[in-house]
Amino acid sequence: MAGDGSASTGAGGGATPGGDPAAASARAGGPARPAPADLGGWGRPTPAGEVLAGALDAAAEGIALFGPDDRLVWWNTAFGVLCGGAAASLAAGLPYPDFVRGLVEALPLDAEARRGVLEQRAAAADRGFVHERPGPGEAWLRETETPLPEGGRLVVLVDATEAKRAETRLRIAYERYALAIHSGENGVYDWDVPGNRMSFSPELQLLIGGDEDAGPQAPEAWWRHLHPDDAPDVLAAFRAAVGQGRPRFRAEYRIRAPFGERWVSDRCAIVYGPDGEPTRVVSAVRDITVAKAAEREAKEREIRTLAILEGALDAIVGMDSEGRVIEFNPAAERIFALPRADALGRPFDALIAVERLGISEPGGLALRLVAGDPALIGRRLELPGLRPDGSEFPAELSITAGRFGDTPFFTAFVRDIGDRKRVESQLQFAAWHDRLTGIGNRTRMMEQLARRIPQGAAVLVIDVDRFRILNDDLGHRAGDIVLGEVARRLELAGGPEATAARLGGDEFALIVPPDRAEETAARVREALGRPLAVGGQEIVLKASVGIARADGPRQRPEDVLADAQLAMYRAKRSGKGQEVVFDQAMRATGSGQLALENDLRRAAGRGEIWLAYQPIVHLGDGRLAGFEALCRWTHPERGSVPPATFVPLAEETGLILPLGRHVLDTAARQAAAWRTRDGCAPFSVSVNVSPRQFFGRDVVAEVEEVLAETGIAPEALSIEITEGVLIADADAAVDTLRRLKDLGVKLSIDDFGTGYSSLSYLHRFPFDTLKIDRSFVVGMHASRAGAVIVHRIIDLARGLGMRTVAEGVETRPEAAYLRDIGCTCVQGWVCARPAKAEEAAGWLAPGFRFDPC
Ligand code: C2E
Ligand code: MG
Ligand code: MG
Repeated sequence: MAGDGSASTGAGGGATPGGDPAAASARAGGPARPAPADLGGWGRPTPAGEVLAGALDAAAEGIALFGPDDRLVWWNTAFGVLCGGAAASLAAGLPYPDFVRGLVEALPLDAEARRGVLEQRAAAADRGFVHERPGPGEAWLRETETPLPEGGRLVVLVDATEAKRAETRLRIAYERYALAIHSGENGVYDWDVPGNRMSFSPELQLLIGGDEDAGPQAPEAWWRHLHPDDAPDVLAAFRAAVGQGRPRFRAEYRIRAPFGERWVSDRCAIVYGPDGEPTRVVSAVRDITVAKAAEREAKEREIRTLAILEGALDAIVGMDSEGRVIEFNPAAERIFALPRADALGRPFDALIAVERLGISEPGGLALRLVAGDPALIGRRLELPGLRPDGSEFPAELSITAGRFGDTPFFTAFVRDIGDRKRVESQLQFAAWHDRLTGIGNRTRMMEQLARRIPQGAAVLVIDVDRFRILNDDLGHRAGDIVLGEVARRLELAGGPEATAARLGGDEFALIVPPDRAEETAARVREALGRPLAVGGQEIVLKASVGIARADGPRQRPEDVLADAQLAMYRAKRSGKGQEVVFDQAMRATGSGQLALENDLRRAAGRGEIWLAYQPIVHLGDGRLAGFEALCRWTHPERGSVPPATFVPLAEETGLILPLGRHVLDTAARQAAAWRTRDGCAPFSVSVNVSPRQFFGRDVVAEVEEVLAETGIAPEALSIEITEGVLIADADAAVDTLRRLKDLGVKLSIDDFGTGYSSLSYLHRFPFDTLKIDRSFVVGMHASRAGAVIVHRIIDLARGLGMRTVAEGVETRPEAAYLRDIGCTCVQGWVCARPAKAEEAAGWLAPGFRFDPC
């Protein structure tokens, strides 16, 4: 410690008090403090330092400074005084631990309490802390320690006796008040109005922070404690009561008590003198703070609960232990078409067809609920909901149980699932029916045939002669009308025992009992032969009919159908308007299907197979999104064979494997070539992959090879799979689709709505695009239901993050409607028919736009 012998001041920013220690010591009457010179390494004296030290010495707080070596350096007068008994040991250089010990030993505490104080301090060591304890005599000291940045510490002592006393008084007052309140006592005030004095019972005195046994006071002693938000109303109401001469007055308001805000209920009796002026007001005042808080919480809860009830989209119906309705939210009013007022008190049994649960007796539902029937409570049930007009709606119901004290109550959540059911059944219908004519489709016909074969069945395949020419001449709208009429006549001709179906294009089928086949065929040709007016013209149709029976080894539905088709081809060839019954010889001749099969086997090698490309177009701006590659077969004799004929044949014979690979390869190569063009917008090419291809070989390896060989970017290739694939083996399909997805190619679900769709399974599959089958697009304008279903499919797809492509869109109004309901893309004649690669290349020009709407 090297001092320069003159004074001391702050070093390194730390304030170091100085001053005349002798004078300070004399004032304090305490031990001698070091002269500033002795402050040594703590700095150099400056005039400012002197002034500061003087000010600190005069402070009411006790201030002491310990140096970096933790020895007492300096303390002010107040510090010596506040240290009391311990002051005797204060001396420059006193080590901090000795100072603490001396201070604590001077406290009027027993050994145990002293140890406690010391431990407390030790725990807070070096952090600086606030610490309270009784000081000498009755005093309380608040001690604060602050570590200094340069080392050492500043200790400040404050006399907290007064503050502590006030706090204690307040605590005692509150405890006493709380005790009074808890023992159920009401406070009382008694107001002598003419004398302008108010007497308070001890509880009220405590409440307003007065002396318990203070005498009467001015009434303001009470009134001024009223909460300012409540006071004007309460006083106004009180004056009004007095003005009307009422003998009683009652109010609830807040009092600002010294220990916090309290709610009170004030019930007073007012006594009037002969002049009608009040002379005395006596009141019982009760503390209702706790009840108020509970009340407010209950109210808030109620408001929240109500908001939930009111805003819920599902019906929420509360019922009591007897099953009677006690709550009925707005959604319930809407769903059940029943006003709340009429619903309250009704048995819930009357709103839901509970007899479906095997409950027949009135009140039976409540009995089972009260018994906690696990088949009912917490379960999701589908039951018809009942409306007052006698109508029903499909409802999804779940019931929860609660208790109000000892009384059970129940809450039913009811959702109208009519919409969902309707869409599902429409999809179901669509899966089984031909959208254009409304009669069964191929799927339904196969299913019916399988069912009827054990009893014996014959199949008639009916093909309208020259339909294509007629379609070209009159337009396809007229063609559609003709097909509808054919379906109707076939149904009539078949009679009640027959099942009619449209197999595709102009090909129809009837399933009939085996002994009725020929006579039905005759009736069919007769029925179709009747003139038909269409497009202002009268036409006469002729049909070729093939007949086959399930017999011998030919018991599989697909065999019977193939036989009937073969017979139909024969009928057509041997002159239109004929019927031919299948016989085994037909197969042997190598004609028909077999011949076609042989031809198909050689077709690719002979360059008869080629691809047409049809654009897929963004509805928003007419941009090209991509192409679908569609397989074409130009037969040297038959001309163009439609894919509807040769694709199923290839599928059945396994030829689809080489054919599919050829298509995939050609399309990918073509797209890769197109994509290298300058300024070419990014687009994808979609390739159809048949079920047999999908499951038959390792399609993933195949796609991987094609990607590698052609160099096409994976995202430029989209694989189209029909719904049937998913149904055949969903688990295997998910696996293959995931692996394809991992290659980076896009996936589309094709002909959506023609399989056995359940809306609920789609999310399992990683599709990027959903292609809405043409039959839905056609059905869109036929009925509102048709439009709704397309809308729902689009919403569903969007919800699953898929884009939608509507297939077979032929007209602008269709396209505009689809755009308006959020469909992403269209594919159809409205943009372009499938075209050869050279023509399709024209749509790739930069800036080229289609105009579908
Ligand atoms: P798809 O995959 O649903 O193809 C769409 C079909 O709708 C095509 O028939 C297309 O020409 C037709 N189309 C497009 N726009 C319109 C329109 O506005 N109106 C009408 N009425 N039809 C339109 P396409 O070319 O006859 O093919 C029929 C089906 O044959 C395809 O249906 C697909 O399932 C299958 N197919 C075609 N090429 C292949 C292929 O390379 N491999 C496999 N596995 N199947 C194929
Ligand atoms: Mg397709
Ligand atoms: Mg399709």
